[in-house]
Amino acid sequence: MELFARTEGLTYNDFLLLPGYIDFEAEAVGLSSRLTRRLSIKAPLVSTPMDTVTEADMAVAMALCGGIGIIHHNCTPDYQANEVLKVKKYKHGFIRDPVCMGPQDTVADVLAAKKKNGFTGYPVTERGKLGEKLLGIVTSRDIDFREKSPELTLDNVMTPVHTMITAKSGITLEQANSILEKSKKGKLPIVNEAGELVALIARTDLKKARSYPDASKDLNKQLLVGAAIGTRIEDKLRLKMLVDSGVDVIIIDSSQGNSVFQVDMIKYIKKNYPNVDVIGGNVVTRRQAKNLIDAGVDALRVGMGSGSICITQEVMACGCPQATAVYQVASYARQFDIPVIADGGIQSVGHIVKSLALGASTVMMGSLLAGTSEAPGEYFFSDGVRLKKYRGMGSLEAMEHKDGKGSAMSRYFHNESDKHRVAQGVSGSIVDKGSVLRFLPYLKSGIQHSCQDIGAKSVTDLQKMTYSGELRFMRRTHSAQIEGNVHGLFSYEKRLY
Ligand code: NAD
Ligand code: IMP
Repeated sequence: MELFARTEGLTYNDFLLLPGYIDFEAEAVGLSSRLTRRLSIKAPLVSTPMDTVTEADMAVAMALCGGIGIIHHNCTPDYQANEVLKVKKYKHGFIRDPVCMGPQDTVADVLAAKKKNGFTGYPVTERGKLGEKLLGIVTSRDIDFREKSPELTLDNVMTPVHTMITAKSGITLEQANSILEKSKKGKLPIVNEAGELVALIARTDLKKARSYPDASKDLNKQLLVGAAIGTRIEDKLRLKMLVDSGVDVIIIDSSQGNSVFQVDMIKYIKKNYPNVDVIGGNVVTRRQAKNLIDAGVDALRVGMGSGSICITQEVMACGCPQATAVYQVASYARQFDIPVIADGGIQSVGHIVKSLALGASTVMMGSLLAGTSEAPGEYFFSDGVRLKKYRGMGSLEAMEHKDGKGSAMSRYFHNESDKHRVAQGVSGSIVDKGSVLRFLPYLKSGIQHSCQDIGAKSVTDLQKMTYSGELRFMRRTHSAQIEGNVHGLFSYEKRLY
């Protein structure tokens, strides 16, 4: 309270947590935390609804590691609902949307697909689509030495279904594993009672498959997933489609959530979909939080102007340094049992722990995840560095984008009076970070080690320690911040995990 009693705003780098007493192992630190009033996740990590961060691949990886991904809405409602569906239907180890071929496709088509996708095993179905009768499979063994006859159709070269090994839907991953092991085959098509292809299992995936005991799942053992919507009238249809796809939580996405549009939308969702939890925001003050809590939100998303791609504070003159925002909103919202997500500005494990210590139950990340292989978009090289695009959802580029995912124009320029655009974000690039499936375990382990230093046995204990006064905070001067970073070296390499 002392730290935040002054009128100046603080951010994560302005203070430190003082160490406590260690009488437990780091691995014993509990990471479970509440995302919303009714939903808990096994690790306090959320991926942001931005079109260069979260679609189905990211959301699956986040949930497998105990967090949750929120699918962005800079796309058509169909596209977004389908991304949600992919996460809900995800079964670890099973390829739910295998690339298929038709019997009239040719060896040349397989070679082209190999070049594009990097693999050669394709189930052959009646018209080359999933859900149709399985006719056979074509693998590298079927097309080896056929390069000279590229026009040959696959019905002449494939291994026909009656000589193949398939499995019936409902099979477990362990059973599939044992069939593949015994048969020494590379692919195992899964078919339903009618002989129609429903999924595929690849030996290479099985070898890579680890188990994820801490995955975030619903009561049906399906992965948890969230989705973002706006506050326009047409968002009600989007909302319905998301709910029909099985979405677990809805975020109302806005930089300034304290609006009549959002209050109306919260009330609409609570009235029409009482089983869906709603996260409101963004807010940075207690007064903003009050209105959304009164309207019925199940959690609040906190942050205005703190994101790495953000120019809101510069352009709008509005916002709040993030540590102050998180502390003020979280200490107010806890009186109503409303969890808070600290959104934006997270650059390190230390920032995550600080935001949790300030009362957030989870953190939302953009830039930390945008360079991973699960983020949407292709890698590209610039000056020999492997990069991915990362852009603000309020950047001109994101506002204007048009691709297969649909245009977002309606979200921003509803009528002629909206034609003067005011960008609130930038578009840039970010360095390749490998897979989220390797990065999140590092973040989780980092949080555990930090909590151990503090003497907190769990994320929830950390918050109790804050409010009981047991956890001590210290303001850092500018020179203390310099001291707290690497200094005085001619050169160094910073490898984190
Ligand atoms: P928004 O949808 O809240 O607002 C866009 C504009 O539409 C605003 O002028 C708003 O008043 C108006 N509007 C919304 N609903 C309306 C309705 N029903 N009728 C009439 N007008 C309505 O989105 P935004 O705040 O511009 O944010 C855009 C994106 O950029 C979001 O993804 C947001 O998360 C992101 N962003 C975040 C921050 C941050 O600091 N967290 C800052 C800027 C942008
Ligand atoms: P980061 O983790 O620091 O990269 O911040 C990500 C957060 O920035 C998101 O979760 C949003 O709240 C916010 N954000 C997204 N797009 C924009 C934008 O265009 N301008 C400002 N903030 C944005």
